[in-house]
Amino acid sequence: MTIHYKDQFETDHLKVIRHCIGPLAVNTFILICKQTKEAAVIDPGGESEVIAQVLKEEGVKATHMLFTHAHIDHIYGAESLKALIPGAKVTYHPLEADVVASIPSMCRMFGMELRSMPAKEIDLKDTPEFSVGMLQLRSLLTPGHTPGSVCFYIPEHQLIFTGDLLFKGSVGRTDFEGGSGSDLRKSLDMILQILPDDVQILPGHGKYSQMGNERANNFYLKVDRWR
Ligand SMILES: [Zn+2]
Ligand SMILES: [Zn+2]
Repeated sequence: MTIHYKDQFETDHLKVIRHCIGPLAVNTFILICKQTKEAAVIDPGGESEVIAQVLKEEGVKATHMLFTHAHIDHIYGAESLKALIPGAKVTYHPLEADVVASIPSMCRMFGMELRSMPAKEIDLKDTPEFSVGMLQLRSLLTPGHTPGSVCFYIPEHQLIFTGDLLFKGSVGRTDFEGGSGSDLRKSLDMILQILPDDVQILPGHGKYSQMGNERANNFYLKVDRWR
């Protein structure tokens, strides 16, 4: 696995460290609560030793391993990272079960080594809201790209991790197994309705954006290509 680049930003309350990893250039995030020095890793795409080392250097304890969905690029490092930071609770939505079950065939399709998903410890159906240190996260079920895709929203700090639902200037594809164009449209409509313009978007691939920018400029949010 290659790390294409690493960057970070911080506010008074939180720090976000991003590693862009692997052949599909997934954004793997470390979200840190600066007050309590607790952290979550979001979509561990590989290079687990590097991620664990960064957590160590930051002096933080990972309490959660969060998954926006279970496509191979987003989970490739899950098993190896779980072994290094066993206290991080594996958290995803149960509607992602079929995608989890298809991980071996995805590995074969992309010519990657076989990987599996660690057992789910927090079920987002039962626990849609939870905290990482003092940071309150809300998971929003946003199917379309996959049935159990979620976004992790931090309303108090105007941040959202959108996985493969919404990118800068684009949206997630729906032609993989379990994808649904009409579900994606509904999920995007929901996001458009609830997110204020100044919410920062941290997608699963590519550059960051702001909701207002996407509302104004994202072609796919305007067209009715799915109906
Ligand atoms: Zn995906
Ligand atoms: Zn992806």
